[in-house]
Amino acid sequence: MVEVSVETTFRNPSHTRQKEWQRATHILRECKQWLVDGWNDGSLSSSITTGDIENPLYSALQNQAIRAAKSDYDDEPVEYTGEQPIEVNNQNWEIHTTENGSIVIGFPCISDWWYTPIHVYDDIEDPIEALLDGDAEKTKLSVWREGDDWKVSFTVSYSDDTSGEETPIGVDVGHNYILAATPDDASAESFLVSGKEYKFVRRYYRSLRESLQQAGALRARNHVGNKEYRRIQDANHTLSKRLVEYASQFENPVIKLEDLEGIRDGSEWHGVHSWPFYELQQFIIYKAEKAGIRVEKIDPQNTSQECSQCGEYAGRDRSRFECPSCGYVRHADLNAAENISQREGEPCTA
Ligand SMILES: [Zn+2]
Repeated sequence: MVEVSVETTFRNPSHTRQKEWQRATHILRECKQWLVDGWNDGSLSSSITTGDIENPLYSALQNQAIRAAKSDYDDEPVEYTGEQPIEVNNQNWEIHTTENGSIVIGFPCISDWWYTPIHVYDDIEDPIEALLDGDAEKTKLSVWREGDDWKVSFTVSYSDDTSGEETPIGVDVGHNYILAATPDDASAESFLVSGKEYKFVRRYYRSLRESLQQAGALRARNHVGNKEYRRIQDANHTLSKRLVEYASQFENPVIKLEDLEGIRDGSEWHGVHSWPFYELQQFIIYKAEKAGIRVEKIDPQNTSQECSQCGEYAGRDRSRFECPSCGYVRHADLNAAENISQREGEPCTA
């Protein structure tokens, strides 16, 4: 479990409730003092209950006062000098959103339960959201006065498991290397398949280059020939399988691919609509879906030229990317994959 402390202020509590809250803080001081004094001189039993307490507070407040006094009292006299915070346990307060969108906290006091809007600043938005969604546990509520403000605090516990947190994996296809993939995290394991490592991939490239030099997009596939085509198809099967295995190691992976329709301007594959890469993507989508991994397509504009860290348009020197602005250095295809992982995508179905 992760615990987050939330502290904020009530938004313009009415004069009436401020008066009642103020009164309660004084009664609580008297009540706690009476308890510790009673325990100290032996006139009160340590098993005292709210039924033994005579004050106008809701029993939820009395209960919490007994607990607080018990933890303060350690066989030594205790002197409560100031107003005491209004405290109730987790079951005796509420938080919800009103029809007009205000977030209110409700707790009992003397005459009634009071529901009062709170300020929700950015730093407490997440735990508040989790509470409202029912995805978190709350603890004891404390309410006290600080100058002209009424403050409120409590702790929100989340479950540790990060289910719901997705890891976008950017997949770059057909730049220097055939396949480059990484999450948006330079320290995470990346995936890079070069022609140097794999004979069949070298063959893949060579045959592509030769054929594409001579043929237009539609004729390219025919020109490569059936035998070569099957080689490429085999390579695509192997590569897509390995890519999906790679992505599976991450928490809730989402594979992000470039939308290849009509792109690769300025690339050596421009104009061919990159059928081998298109096919590789299709295999990735198919295998990812079978593995229960979501796939999205993103706008490929400048993914290989922008710095993934600062967004500067930088260009590349073959396989090396170095940003002239922030100095980020990474394999150019992995920088592109990082850019891909960062972009908003459209879900795609095979
Ligand atoms: Zn940069």
